Amino acid sequence: MSDTRAALAPALGQNTPNGALYPSSKHYIKDPKTGATYTKGDLLGKGGFAKVYEVWDGAYSKHQAAKIVDKTNLSKTKRAKLISEIKIHRQIASTSATHPNIVRFNSVFEDKVNVYILIEKCKHKCLNDLLKSRKSITEPEARYFLMQTIDGVRHLHRHMIVHRDLKLGNLFLAEGMQVKIGDFGLAVKLTSGDERRKTMCGTPNYMAPEVLQTHMENKRAKQFQAKYPDAPLPRDMQPLGHSFEVDVWAIGVIMYTMLIGKPPFESTDPKAVYKRIMSIDFGFPSLPRISNEAKSLIQDILVLDPFKRPSLEAILEHEWFKGFIPRTLSSSVMTSCPNFS
Ligand code: ADP
Repeated sequence: MSDTRAALAPALGQNTPNGALYPSSKHYIKDPKTGATYTKGDLLGKGGFAKVYEVWDGAYSKHQAAKIVDKTNLSKTKRAKLISEIKIHRQIASTSATHPNIVRFNSVFEDKVNVYILIEKCKHKCLNDLLKSRKSITEPEARYFLMQTIDGVRHLHRHMIVHRDLKLGNLFLAEGMQVKIGDFGLAVKLTSGDERRKTMCGTPNYMAPEVLQTHMENKRAKQFQAKYPDAPLPRDMQPLGHSFEVDVWAIGVIMYTMLIGKPPFESTDPKAVYKRIMSIDFGFPSLPRISNEAKSLIQDILVLDPFKRPSLEAILEHEWFKGFIPRTLSSSVMTSCPNFS
């Protein structure tokens, strides 16, 4: 068994495969353990390390998405991300039923070259694609998408999972423009409600200030310990760490981006983004005009102190959510503004 296989085996829930593995071909994917064969269709998209194809099962013509990762050249970090993604996504699938706003995890298998993660296919791509063509969306549409996103995040938090990479590109859109939270590569399952994580992770524009602050404190602490190896670490160098509140922060960034058309702390240089985040340096342009209730909710969420951010329940109870929320949205909103009158 190769190193990669050895590392992946527990996450895949497989024992060391003995005997030959039958490779998948250009047009088919085959689970070497069960013999299940899937026909490969269109390429749905490419990510940091995966290619995602539409696949279907001959017997039932059930269309799914197959996330295919070439495991032969994975760096240590990417391998760890893949193992964690499979473990957490599979756990969500096995918890008290799948949630309508979370991409369904179906199965995972591997052959000599690739790992295949079969998940629910989201036919309308993601909210990032919608924003690319529309630039910004109306408040009723934003309420529609955010309400579902928050519902999905509440489900994750109830199961002690922090997503840590909520962004428009990870909010997929299925039939009926239903939001599906996906990509669990940076997610973490906490062991207790007061556990705080210390590693820096996320996407720069969406990163919460406590993630950045913890990273800076870690650096300062390392320098201090190199200089004074026997001295106890001063209290002000003990990083706060991060937890569920980073997902709340990301919801604030997502809401701003949907309504304004660009992220609140945007800059060409990531360092400048971080500086703006740490000083909560954002404003509302005169156009597009957004309601005072929307501004007030964004301002409540995007605060430095994670403990002062509203809970997911409090967000849903905010005045802004009392406005009109469409019951359904047509897929035409991908390219044109709906008329609600
Ligand atoms: P990575 O983990 O490598 O970053 P992603 O999960 O972001 O890969 O997937 C890459 C792209 O594939 C996405 O941007 C999207 O276009 C497409 N994709 C991913 N998952 C699905 C899905 N469940 N249904 C439809 N398209 C998907």
